[in-house]
Amino acid sequence: MKFEQVLMLGIAALAVSACGGSEPEATSTTPAESTVIEPDTDVAEASSITIPELPALPAISETQFRDYMQTLASDEFEGRAPATAGGRKTVDWLEARMQEMGLKPANGDSYRQDVPLVEITLIPQESNFAITIADGESAVLPYGQESVYWTKRVVEDVSFENSEMVFVGYGVVAPEYGWNDYEGIDVTGKTVVMLVNDPGYATQNPDLFNGNSMTYYGRWTYKYEEAARQGAAAAIVVHQTAPAAYGWGVVEGSWSGPQLDLERPDGGENRVALEGWIQESVAERLFAEAGLDFAQAQKDALSPDFQAVPMTGLSASGKIKNNINRNASQNVAGYIEGATNPDEYILYMAHWDHLGRTFAPIGGGSGNGDTISNGAVDNATGTSGILNIAQSFVDAEKQPDRSILFVAVTAEESGLLGSAYYAEDPLVPFNKTVGGINIDAMLSGGESRDITVIGYGASELEDLLKAAADKRGMYLRPDPEPEKGYFYRSDHVSLAKKGVPMLYSKNGIDLVVGGEPAGEAISENYRANLYHKPADEYSEDWEVGGIMATLEILRDVGGYMAYSDIQPNWYDGNEFRALRHEQMGN
Ligand SMILES: [Zn+2]
Repeated sequence: MKFEQVLMLGIAALAVSACGGSEPEATSTTPAESTVIEPDTDVAEASSITIPELPALPAISETQFRDYMQTLASDEFEGRAPATAGGRKTVDWLEARMQEMGLKPANGDSYRQDVPLVEITLIPQESNFAITIADGESAVLPYGQESVYWTKRVVEDVSFENSEMVFVGYGVVAPEYGWNDYEGIDVTGKTVVMLVNDPGYATQNPDLFNGNSMTYYGRWTYKYEEAARQGAAAAIVVHQTAPAAYGWGVVEGSWSGPQLDLERPDGGENRVALEGWIQESVAERLFAEAGLDFAQAQKDALSPDFQAVPMTGLSASGKIKNNINRNASQNVAGYIEGATNPDEYILYMAHWDHLGRTFAPIGGGSGNGDTISNGAVDNATGTSGILNIAQSFVDAEKQPDRSILFVAVTAEESGLLGSAYYAEDPLVPFNKTVGGINIDAMLSGGESRDITVIGYGASELEDLLKAAADKRGMYLRPDPEPEKGYFYRSDHVSLAKKGVPMLYSKNGIDLVVGGEPAGEAISENYRANLYHKPADEYSEDWEVGGIMATLEILRDVGGYMAYSDIQPNWYDGNEFRALRHEQMGN
């Protein structure tokens, strides 16, 4: 099928990036250099949660974990790309496992939730983005070299002309931080130009936003969404390597070529006509043309009193021509019914999809000519993991009070699409979803003394995690690179954005045998040789002690919620807390 061919081309292009919204994923939980992080107890002190009793739960079966790994990561499943034979086979297999285990179908009488996908390919030769300056001269910003742009509207043609340009600082409206970059300005029909990341990162001031740790407001996804809410015609982010956490090459490589997206009911009509990035040098040039100093403008944007600045004399015009293909894939979901509060749910989530086949071996591989990216670590581990956790609850002597929902989502590698669809059309209301746990890419290796929390300091789920880790004599390791915003790059964020407290945690690196050097060597090997390559394969030689411990800890975290009536919340100051309060009516 044509769609599949085009899709696979897209996947090949994305092979060095993707997994988590078209950008490099958290390929490891540790920085390249060794960083010693002391166990932190501050978080627990701020909590309102009392840790409930947990009944004895059966051990997670290593045999079953390996058996599922073997299958999901086998060549027979062809790398599990959505909307391919291998993807469909995965969906059938997941459905069969849930059925066999006795999970109830979560979507009426079906385990499947259709996720309508659309693939948009911009035709660079027939598209352009140009700026007209005061004297009427027009400068095209070459696609790829100076700019990368697209439209989220599912249409073949989109254009806008002579749109006034405005610098809106960070493009953020954040009431909880007393921040509104759009205050006092109407940007309807205008082209907004914005900085990446947030003022907390730029100043390293712990009292501004979340200091060095990126908030959701720092993400480019948020900035485009906010620009659309403000009625802008186009939204441009200025690329800068440090605050973006990746170079221009990643921007160019990730957003050009076929882009898979959800087929939304409104066809993306509520998005701005053109979204994109420009190089920093282009921004400097344009600001100068408008009689502004880019360096000064950046400084001004760091103040809560910042006022958006019209880029006088400049106007933007754009024209985009797209090829469009449509297809569908599925999320697969089943649940265990609660005994006393069956309408309240604990959520476990893991993406089942991976990159599928590539046309040429892209480094490594199990041998010459290996064209299947098996995605053993990414994310057969998580998919097998949530099934194994489900099995443990199914086999438990005591039925949980609340229900437990297991969702294997599709199309994560194309930008968290399966989870984003779930978030638009949830199988369970958000205010009845007590909390959720996402598992994405666990590395093989022996048991560790620590467990890593990506986006550390987000919610009271971390108190539960700490309690579960304590029982095993293990400690929590905070996300070592919070400024890179990895918390915002896997499926849990789709639910977090809706207010549901979500936890994203991985095996630690402080191994019982070999300590941090051994754990870091495993991470480094994954990052350099396996990540998004055909060589990410499963073998019987895998040590899985670390994964087994992580799964039991994450099982316990869900268990604390399932065998009680606690309501964990986002910590005070977290950007999703207000949403949760509104949703819960408190
Ligand atoms: Zn992944």
